[in-house]
Amino acid sequence: MKIAIYPGSFDPITKGHLDILKTGAEIFDKVIIAVARNSEKKGFLTVDERVKLIKESVKDIENIEVDSFEGLTIEYAKKRGAKVLLRGLRAVSDFEYELQLSQANSALSSDIKTVFLTTKPKYNFISSSTIKEIYLNNGDISKFVPEPVFEFLKTRNVS
Ligand code: ADP
Repeated sequence: MKIAIYPGSFDPITKGHLDILKTGAEIFDKVIIAVARNSEKKGFLTVDERVKLIKESVKDIENIEVDSFEGLTIEYAKKRGAKVLLRGLRAVSDFEYELQLSQANSALSSDIKTVFLTTKPKYNFISSSTIKEIYLNNGDISKFVPEPVFEFLKTRNVS
């Protein structure tokens, strides 16, 4: 069984993330989307909220599991029996960071490979930080996030 881990902050999950995830689920037998608990970034949503919103957003896709993890991604991947990490690329600006990260991960564990996916062009520019900026300035984020995220943020006063 080919298992891939899609690690990230997902603060919150966007339609860009979801597109990557769906493509991953077509390629691999199982994709585990895993929210990193130890990100240096100050959270907008709590990890538990992020996990819950991802679960609601992917509930119809059977081969996707939602989890969170602490520590090194490669250790988590090993624990879950996965040899592939999924990451997304939007623009050249992502490339340098993502390349460095994937090379660091293969230096730490040579049998774990990173696979890069791209989204449909209409989702390409979307990032969690852009969404937060639009939301905090009372803009309409409905086109950019899955329905459960939109509903959650509409009813909650998150800042
Ligand atoms: P991290 O903090 O680990 O970068 P993110 O939640 O910001 O976590 O992103 C997780 C992964 O998804 C990263 O590889 C990022 O480049 C990718 N990603 C995010 N948004 C998009 C998008 N709109 N299109 C393609 N890839 C994306």
